[in-house]
Amino acid sequence: MQPASIERLAAAFARLPGVGPRTAQRLTYHVLTRPEDEVRALAQALVEVKELIGDCQTCFNLAEGPQCVICADSRRDPSVLCVVEGPADILPIERTHEYRGRYHVLGGALSPVDGIGPGDLHLEELYRRVVDGDADLHGVKVSEVVVATNPTTAGEATALQIGADLGQRAPDVVVSRLASGLPVGADLEHADEVTLGRAFAGRRTI
Ligand SMILES: [Zn+2]
Repeated sequence: MQPASIERLAAAFARLPGVGPRTAQRLTYHVLTRPEDEVRALAQALVEVKELIGDCQTCFNLAEGPQCVICADSRRDPSVLCVVEGPADILPIERTHEYRGRYHVLGGALSPVDGIGPGDLHLEELYRRVVDGDADLHGVKVSEVVVATNPTTAGEATALQIGADLGQRAPDVVVSRLASGLPVGADLEHADEVTLGRAFAGRRTI
């Protein structure tokens, strides 16, 4: 039994991933001990990130404005695309320093049981990028697609689909899959840099 505003904040924290009721309560008390300007800055950062962040028009990574920082970086190799399920998968790959190409974010993985079909993912946009090249790259063609979907049933099904589709539409493009070493059933997001780096170095053609 607590004041209603405390209950509301604790309930909001408890909806965050990995936060149980006890941690939610602790975070709420923590907020109450902090100076008002600090709490205001936190609240503002929460609202701002929702207002400012949208999808990159090229790769569907998170972006402030039309392009994400990776697509806007002219030093990135435009001939290689790494396909990931979500924007959260990009950071761990970047941390391996094994990869200097660009990305394509699918927005999920194929999972018929969850009602997620090819039309729900950014697959057509991927094939267009591979076949036509990115509009801003003045004719630079993609020569390799590295499929880095999660080593789960849905991730594997998605990788197979991409391999089959690109085999038909762009037979000259090498399509590879991250090598083993990644624990089956695990998320890329939680893989350590060494394992993920090795998986990248040992990717195989599919
Ligand atoms: Zn982008």
